[in-house]
Amino acid sequence: MGLLKWRQVGNLNSFKYICGYCGNPVASNVGYVRGYHPDGSGSDMCHIYICHHCFGPSYFDESWKQTPGPRPGEEVSGINDSGVQSLYNEARDSYSKNAFTATVLCCRKLLMHIAVSKGDSPGKQFIEYVEYLANKNYIPPDAKDWVDHIRTKGNEANHEIVIMSEEEAKDLLAFISMLLKLIYEFPNKMRAIKP
Ligand SMILES: [Zn+2]
Repeated sequence: MGLLKWRQVGNLNSFKYICGYCGNPVASNVGYVRGYHPDGSGSDMCHIYICHHCFGPSYFDESWKQTPGPRPGEEVSGINDSGVQSLYNEARDSYSKNAFTATVLCCRKLLMHIAVSKGDSPGKQFIEYVEYLANKNYIPPDAKDWVDHIRTKGNEANHEIVIMSEEEAKDLLAFISMLLKLIYEFPNKMRAIKP
């Protein structure tokens, strides 16, 4: 408990959750409790648990709703481009706050960023970048149905403002996670084995 460096934390019943800051699965037994009575005594109402990986505090209300919630989409390691990393985080954070249009916009910007870093030119429509990545074999053959799916979903012109649904945001986020793993995580793991 001392290593957490939080003052006056208490021992709580152990509770499992996915940390919304670092994404690790946690079983924490340290934090704070809000009690029923004015002096904080009585039955437990709400809790704050401290993550023992990143030391971030997560708040759980009376129905155990978690704030900040876990980020949707998968953690991707080995991203060596800080712009790509922060846009990906932003896409996941937007999704966790039900901001689906923002998620889609971040994912499209990411696709442009990735395609340009692989030799395409800036200033095109996002669907052209998806096609570029498919033509250059960055998208595996069995995942090419995704390209058609994303093409039909994202047919509107660049200047139109279209509110995106949860489904569209979820699909695009899953596609981006796969792409980032293939382009950053797996090559990076192999470099660590065969430098
Ligand atoms: Zn954490």
